[in-house]
Amino acid sequence: METVSRLFPFVWPYRRKAVLSILCAVFISILWAGNLSTVLPMVRVLFEQRNLHEYVDEQIEQTRVDINRHNEDIAQIELDDLELRARSQQRLSDATRQLALLTTTRNYVLPWVPQDRFDTIALIFGCFLIATFLKGVFVYIQEVLVGDVVNRVIVDIRKKCFRHILSLDYQTIAAAGPANLISRITNDVETLATGLRTVLVRLVREPLKAGGCIAFAFVLNWRLTLLSLLVVPCIALLFAKFGRSLKRASKGTLQSMSGIYKGLAETFDSLKIVIAFGAARRHRRQFHLSNKEYLDKSMKVVRLSALARPTTELMGAIAVLCAVIPGTYLVLRSTDEIWGIKLAPGAMDIAQLSALYALLAGTLDSVRKLSTVYGDLKRSAAASDRIFEILHEKTKVPEPREPQIVSRHSSEIRFENISFSYSQEQADGNPRPPALRNLSFTVTAGEVVAVIGENGSGKSTLLNLLPRFMDPDQGAILIDGVDVRQIRSSDLRSQIGIVTQETQLFDDTIAENIRYSKPDATWEEIEDAAKKAHVIPFVSHLPGGFSTQIGEKGQKLSGGQRQRIALARAILRDPSILILDEATSALDSQSEHIVHKVLKQFVRGRTVFVITHVINDTFLDLVTRIVVMDAGQVAAIGTHEELLQTCSIYRRLYQSNSHQRAA
Ligand code: ADP
Ligand code: MG
Repeated sequence: METVSRLFPFVWPYRRKAVLSILCAVFISILWAGNLSTVLPMVRVLFEQRNLHEYVDEQIEQTRVDINRHNEDIAQIELDDLELRARSQQRLSDATRQLALLTTTRNYVLPWVPQDRFDTIALIFGCFLIATFLKGVFVYIQEVLVGDVVNRVIVDIRKKCFRHILSLDYQTIAAAGPANLISRITNDVETLATGLRTVLVRLVREPLKAGGCIAFAFVLNWRLTLLSLLVVPCIALLFAKFGRSLKRASKGTLQSMSGIYKGLAETFDSLKIVIAFGAARRHRRQFHLSNKEYLDKSMKVVRLSALARPTTELMGAIAVLCAVIPGTYLVLRSTDEIWGIKLAPGAMDIAQLSALYALLAGTLDSVRKLSTVYGDLKRSAAASDRIFEILHEKTKVPEPREPQIVSRHSSEIRFENISFSYSQEQADGNPRPPALRNLSFTVTAGEVVAVIGENGSGKSTLLNLLPRFMDPDQGAILIDGVDVRQIRSSDLRSQIGIVTQETQLFDDTIAENIRYSKPDATWEEIEDAAKKAHVIPFVSHLPGGFSTQIGEKGQKLSGGQRQRIALARAILRDPSILILDEATSALDSQSEHIVHKVLKQFVRGRTVFVITHVINDTFLDLVTRIVVMDAGQVAAIGTHEELLQTCSIYRRLYQSNSHQRAA
């Protein structure tokens, strides 16, 4: 039910088509029940020695006589014999209804029916054929309409998921993991689509068909029909219980499919390492295990789903027999009651019994079809849970309610008493130690600050707070006196340029990769940025120049070339704050030298944070101050010379660096 209400807003824009498809289903159900009802006249014409006209006339005569007799009976019954009176009156009303039905048939149906018995049957066949054809047309229209609605809804959901994920904070997305998210947006959404299609086609059509059959059966003999409906609550109860298990099992399959996606993504992402270390076997083994898990879980779903059909068939058969056995008794004994309970308006005949049987069997057919779609339904409910789990995820970095308008940063950046811990618990259940603890310092605009410290001392974490990849648990970061949480994130990030160790480039041309940071940049601006970042020297050697496609993640370029494009991208943005997180760490000394030369030009008039573990002269030439981090805290701040004097951690880091250089 929850799934339906969640999906409702997505289906609402296409309501007209959805309603039209339901209308089709109504027509289908009427035609279906009508087709089954043809059994009644067929059997009658075949078994009776008269044609329909004679039969109906005779029945009308007979019913009139019956009504008169009932009237006389009632007149004779003692006034206070209420029970007998009620029974006779019931008989009278049944007979009157019967008469009404018969006269309607005579006045409106029989004029169309030929006198000859064979012609009558031929006519019935003709009607049957036409009705089947029409039903086919409606089935076609319904399925196309539903397919149209479902595909659009699914595209909308997929787009909404993507949009929502991109609106979340970096931390949340990273914690969810790319493979998991991909699997939800693809596999789960597809599973949901199957369910939705099922709902809109089968779940609308089959109950209507069953309803049509039951309605016709009611007209034929409501008492016996009611008798067979007694089984329905049992079926409902059984299915509610069974549905819960099925949904749980389905969630398991979807989860393990996420696992398969994760294995694939991990393997293909680090293909080089996989090949170099000959680890294919290990990855195959992992893949085998996640496939095995998927197999186990999906077999559970298969077994549960497979139970659905035989169970409903059995229950359905019981339901049909509940009506047909008493019906047969009535026919064979030529009576209208069993144990004093009246079950038919008059004595039943074979034709009525066969029609009743056909209609109830028709109902059963629908119920059986519903039972097979039940599995689809529960599977897609599980998928929808997982999809809406993402859609209900709230960003941990909310936009300010009343954002402050800020001009280009020109005064200072202050880190005020910052504390931060990553939220996930460690494997041993203990909470993680905070990554940053009560950390404060101020940087004046235009400074180039190096952030230095051991691995894991919290350097990246600290600078990730600046563009609000996450927010500190305590304390604040103020840019020119304004808390970054008070600035609209697009305004904040438009002032910040970031270059990281892994350059993140896209499978596009070099020019487009540079343009990425400023989509409306002119060609001159791109070229200028490229020149400043020393991109021109290698681009001019490429046959395609700036239009060269660089391949997925820029794999057709060398590390230094990629880093220079990343720099050009940052330069084009013209940020007032620049963050370089180990930007030169993966580069050879020649490329590093070039990058430092680029930076020397570029850092002028900007506030720059450089995280690095390589402290050499060209680098020291660049920086104005150095922040030494240790275990999430600032150990010391100062110039190179000052720190060499006062800070033992810095001395150690610098010396280990010089050893590396010497080696
Ligand atoms: P540095 O950049 O100085 O090498 P980081 O800021 O990346 O260090 O990490 C600081 C601490 O936070 C480390 O102990 C690291 O294990 C932890 N950490 C970093 N990123 C995450 C993350 N995404 N989830 C949980 N812990 C993290
Ligand atoms: Mg780091």
